[in-house]
Amino acid sequence: MIPFNIPCVTGKESVAIQQAITAQKLSGNGSFGNKSCTWLEKNLSCERAMLTPSCTAALEMTAILANVGPGDEVIMPSYTFVSTANAFALRGATIRFVDIDPTTMNIDPVAVEAAITDKTKAIVVVHYAGVACDMDHILQIAEEHDIFLIEDAAQGLMSTYKGKALGTIGHMGTISFHETKNYTCGEGGALLLNDSELIERAEILQEKGTNRSQFIRGQVDKYTWRDVGSSYLLSELNAAYLSVQLDHAEEINEQRLARWEDYNQALKPLMEDGEIVLPHIPDEHVHNAHMFYIKADSEATRNELMDYLRDQEIMAVSHYVPLHSSVAGNKYGKFIGEDTYTSVESAKLLRLPLYYGLKEEDVAYVVKAIQQFFDFK
Ligand SMILES: *Cc1c(COP(=O)(O)O)cnc(C)c1O
Repeated sequence: MIPFNIPCVTGKESVAIQQAITAQKLSGNGSFGNKSCTWLEKNLSCERAMLTPSCTAALEMTAILANVGPGDEVIMPSYTFVSTANAFALRGATIRFVDIDPTTMNIDPVAVEAAITDKTKAIVVVHYAGVACDMDHILQIAEEHDIFLIEDAAQGLMSTYKGKALGTIGHMGTISFHETKNYTCGEGGALLLNDSELIERAEILQEKGTNRSQFIRGQVDKYTWRDVGSSYLLSELNAAYLSVQLDHAEEINEQRLARWEDYNQALKPLMEDGEIVLPHIPDEHVHNAHMFYIKADSEATRNELMDYLRDQEIMAVSHYVPLHSSVAGNKYGKFIGEDTYTSVESAKLLRLPLYYGLKEEDVAYVVKAIQQFFDFK
C-alpha cells in the first residue's frame, strides 16, 4: 500500500524530546522553541518568528493583530482550507471569496482588486502547494488601498518568491507544522512578523494577553493583563521534535523535490497526449515540493482515476470543497465576481502520494497505474 502521506520523521526526534524532559521545561518558549524561532528568523530573513499550537492559531493571531471586527471585509480565495476563513469569521468579519488562477490554483489579483470596498480590512493569500501567489501585484493592491496583506504560507516553508521566503512578504505570515506538511511536530505552527509594533502586540496575545515575555526578559518586575489574548504557545515537547526537522530541512527538501521531479518527468507524456494537466511553477518562484497534483479533464474522470488507484492500493486524494459552496461559507461570506475556475478546477484535481521516505520505485508504481488507467479508458 502506498499511503497519501506519512508524517516526516528523521529518527533523531525522540532524543530531542527526551532532552526536553530531562531539562524539566515543557511549556512554551523553552530552549528548543527558541532555537526553532531563531532558525526561522535566520533562514527566512524575518524580524520575528513565534511558534504557535497550529497554523490555525497563528491565523487567529493575524486577525486580532489586524484589528478585524464586525463590519469588516476580508478577501481570500474560496479554494483554501477552512482555517484561512475561520480565523476572520471568528472576529465577526464578512469573508469575500474570490476566484483563482487555474494555472497555479492561487488567488487571482484581478479578482482581488474587483472585490475591494471601503470596508476591506485585509487580503489573505494562500500559497497553494507551496507555490507563491503573484505577490508583486497583490502587494501593490494592498499598498494602494492601505490594507493588510496576510500570507497563509501553511504549505510554504522552504519556498521563495523572487528570493524572498513565503510568509515574509506581506505584513504577516503563517506556517503549519501539522503532520501533513513538509516539516512537522504533529500539531504546530508559526507566525512571521517584521513590524515592531505588531511584534510587541503579538508577544502579549501569545501569553494570554499579558506582558509575561517582558517579565521573563527582566524588562518589568511583574506581569499583568494588557490586552485580549489566548494561549498561543507551542509546547516544548513539540518544539523539540520540530527543531530536529528544521536541522534536516535541506535534506528533507531535496528528497521531496527529487520525487516531485520524478512524477513531473514521468507524467509529461500523458500531458502531451492531453489526458492530464501538470502543476505549473512560474518563473522566479522556487517551490518546496509540498504537493504533486494532476488535473483530469473532468470531475468524473478524476473520481474514476482515484477509485482505480485505490484498487491498486494507492491513496490519491482530492480537496478542497470550495468554501463558498459550504454551509459555513454561505453563512459567513460570499463569492464576489464570477466563479470561473474555483469550482470546475478543484473538481478535476487529484493529489498523489508524496512524503519524506517515498521511494523512486513507489513513484514509478503510481505513474504506471495512472498510465494503465488512461490506456484502458
Ligand atoms: C494545513 C493548512 C492550514 C492549517 O494548519 P494547521 O497547522 O493544521 O492549523 C491552514 N491553511 C492552509 C492553506 C493549510 O494547508
